[in-house]
Formats: sequence, C-alpha cells, structure tokens
Amino acid sequence: MHGGMAGAGWAPPQLEDFILTERLGSGTYATVFKGYRKRNVREVVAVKCVNKRSLNKASVENLLTEIEILKTIRHPHIVELKDFQWNKEYIYLIMEYCAGGDLSRFIHARRILPERVARIFLQQLACALKFLHDRNISHLDLKPQNILLSSLDKPYLKLADFGFAQHMSPRDEKHVLRGSPLYMAPEMVCSRQYDARVDLWSVGVILYEALFGRPPFASKSFSELEEKIRSNQPIETNLVMEAVEKDQAGDASAALSLYSKALEYFVPALRYEIDARRKEAIRSKVSQYISRAEQLKVLVSSNNKTLLQQGNPARDILKEMSKDKPRLYAALAVASAAVAKEEEGKDDSETLDLYQQSLGELLLMLAAEPAGRRKELLHAEIQTLMGRAEYLKEQIKRKESQLEAESMGKEGMMDSVRGSCTLQ
Ligand code: ADP
Ligand code: MG
Repeated sequence: MHGGMAGAGWAPPQLEDFILTERLGSGTYATVFKGYRKRNVREVVAVKCVNKRSLNKASVENLLTEIEILKTIRHPHIVELKDFQWNKEYIYLIMEYCAGGDLSRFIHARRILPERVARIFLQQLACALKFLHDRNISHLDLKPQNILLSSLDKPYLKLADFGFAQHMSPRDEKHVLRGSPLYMAPEMVCSRQYDARVDLWSVGVILYEALFGRPPFASKSFSELEEKIRSNQPIETNLVMEAVEKDQAGDASAALSLYSKALEYFVPALRYEIDARRKEAIRSKVSQYISRAEQLKVLVSSNNKTLLQQGNPARDILKEMSKDKPRLYAALAVASAAVAKEEEGKDDSETLDLYQQSLGELLLMLAAEPAGRRKELLHAEIQTLMGRAEYLKEQIKRKESQLEAESMGKEGMMDSVRGSCTLQ
C-alpha cells in the first residue's frame, strides 16, 4: 500500500481543528477516517489522508490547485470537499461524511440490486457525470468503491475519489490486478490514447455489477481480463450459472425460474447486438436455454400433479377436531371440495373461487381460534391452501399467455416460459 497507513495499528493522524475517530476505509492511495470538527461536534466529516510519497513529485502542486477547484464544486451527487490541509508528509481532504459506506459494500451485502434501485442509482450517477463533463472534468477512476452513499435508509449516491488519477505515480506492474482495471475502459488499460469517454465504459461495468453482483469481466489476472474483453463469447450471467447449478442439483423449479429470468436479459441482448458473430453466439445460447426451460417446465408441472394426488391426512385430522365447530367444519369441507375439483382438472376459475371462499372463512376462524394444537393445524392448512390457490392462479395465467403465445411465434414462446417462472 502506497500510503503505508492501511496497517491495523495505524493511529488516526492529529489535525488542528478535527478529532478523528474510526477508520472508514482505505483504497489505493489513502486512508479515510471519520471525524468531528472541534468547535462544532455535531459536524461529522470524513478525512482522507493521502501520503505525498504516493504522488508524482511534480503533481503535488497541481493537485493542490485542483483541490482548490474541487472545493468550489457543489452537486447533490458529488461528495462535498469542505476543506483541505497539508503538512510535510500528508494531504488531508476534509469531506462530507457518507454514512451509507460505498457502493461496492452496498451491492455485495445485498448480492444484487433490484432493477428499480439500479435505475435510480444510474440516473444519479449520470447526473453527476453530466455536471462534471460540462466543466471538462473526467473522473477516470469510476468504480463502486469510489461511489458513496449518503445513508442506508435513504441512499443517495455521492461520487467520490476523483480528480486524482492523473496525479498518482505510475500504476503498479501491469500484471497485478487491483480491482480497478476491471472497470477501466480497454483503451485506458492498454495505455493508448483515451479521452473523457472512458468514464462511460466504467458506468456500464458498474451497472452490470449492480444487477448481476459481479463485474462482467471478473478476472484474476490481466491477461484473463484482456482475453475476456476481446472475446466474442456472450457474457455468462450469474443467473445462468446458478440455473445450471440448481439443475444439476435436481431442483427443477428453481432452475426453471432462474433460466426464465436469465432469458429476460438475453432476449434484449440478442435484439440489440449488431455484430453478426456475437449475435449468432447469443442466439445459440438462447435457444439452448429455452429448450432446457421447456423440459424443466414439463418436469415441474408433473411433480406438482403428483403432489396434488397425495391425500392430506392433516386436513382429515383437522376436520375430526372441528366437529364441534360447524362453521369451521363447513369451511374445511369447501376446501376439500376445491382440492377435489382441482384434481379433476376441469374448471380452473371455479376451483379458484372455491379456494378463495374457504380461505376467507378459515382466516376469520384462525383469528378467533384460541392458541393450541388446533390453531397450529389450522394455520398450516391455510398455508397449504394458499399455496395451492397461488399455483392455480399461475396456471390460469400461464394458459392465457400460452394462448397469446401461439399467435406470436418464437417471441410468444419466451413469454410462456416466463409465465411459468413464478410458480415456485
Ligand atoms: P482511495 O483514493 O485510496 O481509493 P477513497 O477516497 O476511494 O480513497 O476512499 C477509500 C474508502 O474509504 C472508500 O471506498 C469508502 O469506503 C471510504 N470513504 C471514503 N470517503 C468517504 C466518506 N466521505 N464517507 C464515508 N466513507 C468514505
Ligand atoms: Mg478509491
């Protein structure tokens, strides 16, 4: 580590106006501490300590000038630089404190982000970049570790750690991967000519990581990274890998659901790919996944049928226990009728009506039921019935979408695959 401050034993530095407390994190060049302003303990800040030795000799001056400029920049999605100080060894950047940590931790604590959240984050990031672009400032080191969140309950993105890339000593030997080349535009990694557009490449990589939980070209070495970026192979998503895993483990319904989700991403990819060879490669993957999903669908629905055909001793016991409560007994009888009708497989919507009727009654009974064995059984029974009703609803939906699909060819087939993915 350049700054030599990342070691666990390193005590916070002493600053005239601030009390520094816990270490918030450290990146490639600096260590960041949480702190309070001495004369106003309620002003929480983050102090980034950059060791001057990690900077190019000539650039310390430039950096200070640039920091001066950054100090004047105010944008809701850019971390505010409140002040800076320096001594012989260090430059201290006093910044607004971001309680939500960085985006890398945020994504990985949740595995992946829902599209809804990723979309909002992307808008915020775009907003910050537009602002910088209008002022001829490029970030050049965009990655989740350099994007902070204002707080965890109402996360608001704050672009951080920028304006320094140009001032740092030459990057470590090229074969060492330190995380950031994964987000760098290829022209930048190969140190050929590059321009402000490299930031856009990084945004794409970040968005991908937010949605899939890892960057698209995750690699252990530089040569692996280069090979992946150059290759014409479509990117295997986590979803596909998980689907294959579940499939191999014999969990057909989980595999089906994952394949269906993966297909939702591949179909637009197929549509928008212009390179003929890549398009062909994606097409062959897509048809491979579709046929496996179709096979799984048959498997899953036959599994469900076997389940339905098994009797339900729990319901019989519950009925026995309800003889003294005619209303409960009657509701259970309606439930049995619904199950019987479902087994006949005739009129789905009538069956669903029966399920809903009995569930309405049973839920009322459950609320009034005193604690005890019967309540437990009733609770379990309601769960089972709800599961069946849900399944039936999905079946009805799927039949409808299959009807539509028949008139729509291959695209329609996709919908029918998708239509069944909610049944687990
Ligand atoms: P480097 O130049 O060494 O990469 P960064 O500015 O990226 O330093 O900071 C390193 C880490 O410290 C970040 O990834 C983040 O986890 C944490 N951090 C930085 N600034 C703040 C801040 N203002 N509020 C909270 N945490 C921060
Ligand atoms: Mg950083």
